[in-house]
Amino acid sequence: MNAQIFELELQHGSGAYRPAPVALVRGEGPYVWDAEGNRYLDFNTGVGVALLGHAHPALTRALSDQAGRLMTCAAGYFPNDVRAQFLQKLVDVLPEGLERVFLSNSGAEAVEAALKLARACTGRSKVVAATRGFHGRTLGALSATWKPDYKKPFEPLVPGFEHVPFGDLDALERAVDGRTAAVILEPVQGEGGVHPAPPGYLRAAGALCAAHGALLVLDEVQTGLRTGAWLYSEREGVVPDVVCLGKGLGGGVPIGATVFRSSLSFQRGQHGSTFGGNPLACRAALAVLETVERDGLLERGRELGAYFLKELQGLVEEFPDKAREARGVGLMLGLQLRFKAAPVLDALRRRGVLALSAGPTVVRFLPPLVIKRAHVDRAVEVLHEVLQQTTRKPGP
Ligand SMILES: *Cc1c(COP(=O)(O)O)cnc(C)c1O
Repeated sequence: MNAQIFELELQHGSGAYRPAPVALVRGEGPYVWDAEGNRYLDFNTGVGVALLGHAHPALTRALSDQAGRLMTCAAGYFPNDVRAQFLQKLVDVLPEGLERVFLSNSGAEAVEAALKLARACTGRSKVVAATRGFHGRTLGALSATWKPDYKKPFEPLVPGFEHVPFGDLDALERAVDGRTAAVILEPVQGEGGVHPAPPGYLRAAGALCAAHGALLVLDEVQTGLRTGAWLYSEREGVVPDVVCLGKGLGGGVPIGATVFRSSLSFQRGQHGSTFGGNPLACRAALAVLETVERDGLLERGRELGAYFLKELQGLVEEFPDKAREARGVGLMLGLQLRFKAAPVLDALRRRGVLALSAGPTVVRFLPPLVIKRAHVDRAVEVLHEVLQQTTRKPGP
């Protein structure tokens, strides 16, 4: 069954993906099952999307109820009760000052809206981004993304983007000037290898932007709701001018949100989206926010994340010839290996644990916030087994 589904996707897929040869067909809590009935502990969660785990009753109920009430209502034409309720809730939980929201359907779209907003509000077009940064694959977001492999075939990209070394404040100071519309950064670089910003860096970036009339855009598409706070930037004591959200926000339903200061605004007609802000997605995201708040999941993510990180650091100490470093914040963690991550991910999967890579040598864990300590223990136990049995191969 797995092989049949795999073959069909290979045959009719675009060629852009190379998935693992197991087809996932069902999920419940932190587990998913493949087409042959094998169970996996899901620390991949569709790249951090299944924030509440799979088939969470609150989310399932909210969705089926909304599907039977109203699924679509284009935001440019009519307001909607659920959208208004969701916007209010989102702005309520986020830091004071972030009061306006443009809703879309993905992380890349949230970034596109941020880039257009920065251009429209500042009248400038220069954008400073960071090496190893990832912001999505559409042409604007891709211009902010760093990885040359992702960009080369699509050049020329949007002009005006400059990349400076992530975490290097001097380099940022040299790059930002009176022509800068925005600085865009991930507070913890996800795809780039799970690298948290050095303490104080984001705050200094904010001050630098303010001094030059540029906007600080924090791309929290991956860090949002996952790093022990609604926004990672709260932990760093910085309120960005614009913040991008996506991934886990809808708990599995596609949604992107670009949230910004009330002093900023699009002019009528400057941006739009057919699906953005549809009541189904808004209802899902509202259920996610309410569940995270009611069940204290941010605290849980913070505590379990600290525990998980300590366990990963234990593995680094035990296998110094195989693992280089454990990094991350909350339930966004990475184990940097001394060799390629792909065979380790395969071995984990064969033993019933799903994770993902972050660059060639980092095993990344994005578990749902609903896991318990026992799930972390199980993942660490399997990882221990795999590291023990992996013969060291020379790294890149
Ligand atoms: C995943 C991601 C994106 C892109 O989100 P899509 O929904 O895949 O378009 C943008 N920024 C960051 C930080 C991400 O992790």
